[in-house]
Amino acid sequence: MPNPASNNQGTTSSRISRQCDVTVIGGGLGGKAASIHLAKAGFKVICIEPALSVRQCVGESLDWSAPDLLCALGLPMEQLVQSQIATWKRHVTVRMRDGCSAHYVPSEWLGEKPFHIELRTLHVDRLKLDQELLNLTRAQGVELVHDKVIGVERTGNRICAVVTAGGSRFASPWFIDASGFAGSAFGREFQLPAVHSGPPKLALWKYFPVDELVEGTTIYVDPSASAYMEWVWEIPIQSKTVSVGYILPGEAMKAMRADKLSVEEIFRQQLMKFPRFERLPESENPEKLNVTSFRCRAHLKCAGPNWTMVGEAASMVDPITSNGVTAALRHAAETAAMIQKFRRRGSLPWRAQAVYSARILLMAKFFNGGIEKIVYEPPVRNRIGIARSGEIYTGPAWSMNVVYARLKPKGIFSTGLLGIILEAFRTGAWLLYQFCKMSPATSAN
Ligand SMILES: Cc1cc2nc3c(=O)[nH]c(=O)nc-3n(C[C@H](O)[C@H](O)[C@H](O)COP(=O)(O)OP(=O)(O)OC[C@H]3O[C@@H](n4cnc5c(N)ncnc54)[C@H](O)[C@@H]3O)c2cc1C
Repeated sequence: MPNPASNNQGTTSSRISRQCDVTVIGGGLGGKAASIHLAKAGFKVICIEPALSVRQCVGESLDWSAPDLLCALGLPMEQLVQSQIATWKRHVTVRMRDGCSAHYVPSEWLGEKPFHIELRTLHVDRLKLDQELLNLTRAQGVELVHDKVIGVERTGNRICAVVTAGGSRFASPWFIDASGFAGSAFGREFQLPAVHSGPPKLALWKYFPVDELVEGTTIYVDPSASAYMEWVWEIPIQSKTVSVGYILPGEAMKAMRADKLSVEEIFRQQLMKFPRFERLPESENPEKLNVTSFRCRAHLKCAGPNWTMVGEAASMVDPITSNGVTAALRHAAETAAMIQKFRRRGSLPWRAQAVYSARILLMAKFFNGGIEKIVYEPPVRNRIGIARSGEIYTGPAWSMNVVYARLKPKGIFSTGLLGIILEAFRTGAWLLYQFCKMSPATSAN
């Protein structure tokens, strides 16, 4: 982000100046969720977002922890399904090119005593969900400003104001960066170090009409024994519409582009590998192909004395984990609770900053590190097969989200306990990876 206003003096300029309790940068899912929580708690919130209307975005297949977080914003699961904003997600299926498949379904007994875990989750139509969240944001009295933050005024680590391309200056005691992976406003401003996982990747996706509704997400893979895994998602966002996306490393895309293949052709060729898609691309489909690039990462620090980062601005979790929406909603709820708690004090104590940052980092490292080692990279899946790799990843990943939802970590003790469990799983994944690397399978499974 160009930052003409960045300085360490906290100076003001001749711009139009606005004042509020909390300034939120970015009106995506994370920004809207944080704004709603804070407005409900009585804060005067201004949310700055450049897009004039709700954009088409990804984040359609939700983890099992997301529905409770949506419910806390006023959007219960049943209501979302009834109003056709969402469809039920009861399982995940992995389909191989040779027709083999593996199903991942939460066991029935988890829904019974003493666990009482909700075994259903959702696929969401993001245009409709984001519009619904926008309506809630407005209904809570949040002021939405169509503008783009281009600079930060600060005194040391404390932010005094942000300035926008439209020439306004927003001053407030609290600031939230919800500008997403591409925006990363405070990450750039403070040059915050980050832990990266895996290579830069691309996602190509579009929507197709279908005849039947499948109440689950399907992942199509055709892994090469020597290469990093690429995959295709199929997510039923409405009863007769599926979202289909292809994730591949940036380098693989570059090589295909060098062979003069168009992006549309690359997408089509990948889909043609699977019988399911043989007819779909020929159907009338006016939707354009969407393209986005990303790289999984988590910042080591996601909060300062009067600011926090939420959603993809704080951590980018790999899409195959279906955890981006859960993470963004969690960050938003936790950020709002922290600001509420320390409102009178006017700043976050270093302990609160540290544990908030630690939770974001630990969770992102757990999901990103696990999926990289166990599924994306070849050693483990070559040794035990993609179906079992999926099982080994899914069990702990799903359980950790349940543990998080039940533990509700806030302070040093609960965050420390969470960290111990997450690091134990991560070490297990690393040991398995090293073992499989040292004793590779004689032939790929
Ligand atoms: C390919 C792909 C597939 C995914 N699939 C899934 C999935 O199946 N399930 C899941 O749970 N998650 C998924 N995710 C993640 C999920 O989409 C996001 O985590 C979620 O949407 C939260 O986004 P956000 O609000 O943090 O950022 P965004 O939605 O990117 O919002 C950021 C907002 O900030 C605004 N902004 C940027 N810069 C500025 C600025 N300077 N000033 C003001 N505003 C600014 C932008 O216009 C934007 O509206 C996927 C992600 C990708 C990339």
